[in-house]
Amino acid sequence: MHSYTGRFAPSPSGPLHAGSLVAAMASYLDARAHQGRWLLRIEDIDTPRVVPGADRLIMGQLQALGMQWDEAVVWQSHRHAAYQAAFDALATQGLVYGCACTRKELFAGIYRGGGGEEMEPMASMAPTRGAATGAATGTATKDMPVNHVAAPLVGANAGVDTDAALAPYPGTCRNGLPPGRTARAWRFRVSTGIERFDDRWLGAQQQDVEREVGDFILKRADGLWAYQLAVVVDDTEQGVSDIVRGTDLLSSTPRQQMLARHLGRAFPRVMHVPLVIDTQGRKLSKQNHAPALDCTRPLAMLNAAWQQLGFEAVAVPDKQAFWAAAQGRWAARFSIA
Ligand code: GLU
Ligand code: ZN
Repeated sequence: MHSYTGRFAPSPSGPLHAGSLVAAMASYLDARAHQGRWLLRIEDIDTPRVVPGADRLIMGQLQALGMQWDEAVVWQSHRHAAYQAAFDALATQGLVYGCACTRKELFAGIYRGGGGEEMEPMASMAPTRGAATGAATGTATKDMPVNHVAAPLVGANAGVDTDAALAPYPGTCRNGLPPGRTARAWRFRVSTGIERFDDRWLGAQQQDVEREVGDFILKRADGLWAYQLAVVVDDTEQGVSDIVRGTDLLSSTPRQQMLARHLGRAFPRVMHVPLVIDTQGRKLSKQNHAPALDCTRPLAMLNAAWQQLGFEAVAVPDKQAFWAAAQGRWAARFSIA
């Protein structure tokens, strides 16, 4: 029995870069510091973004850097039945409905102020107290999320369902499809009320999902499962106790917690670590041409990621010594009592 299970869940849209390495490192160290399991899950359901072979590249990079996962790798593309079962369980409760809206209609709605909703910053997701260490390099508050950013920018975020990112969904189809229209996508009927959680890095967080996100997509118009559904099904079925990932996903957490509750499953603890920002202040990503990791210099790569997490570089001869030192320092700062 493991009381701690962590995971790294990359989307195989390309190899790891300095930004994704930070998330991998934080989740790995947190699992090892708690004598827990560390799982690797390849999030390859967003097939238009999957780059063939990227999964193997990522696995090779993790191993070259000394991050070995426990247990068999899970590919989300093999888990359709589990997502369907969860979708059906929500539908049985009347929590799923068909939506006919196109992106174009939803955009037009935003600029008309349709549904009385306006684009607004993610103010309520701002940390209510500082990062646990005070050492956050990537200033979590500035990189806040994605839901209310114009759509083209959102493509930079591999984890997020772009349909959910336009603006709060105004609820057009909530009480039935408009006459003559057919369902394209399937949405989750969100609950009213504030979703709260305690982030191990950022502290107390809250979001009014209904007002700030609205009914979000479970199954996309292209027939693919949405990230939000798949990630909750997998995290809860794999027994993940702790999600450690980048702050780009902070605004997704309330939706995931809400879904887990309606599925009758316990939602993990969460920790969102700072993103790596490029010289123009943008999230490091493949779209922004993040340089490839140089796995021939593992120690340099590891120390760079480690410093992004707010720690001082460790002077060690090799990667084994790096992990031993880093694990001790991580445990001293972040051990769960
Ligand atoms: N697959 C997502 C991404 O690479 C991350 C999912 C997660 O950690 O929840 O952005
Ligand atoms: Zn609709």
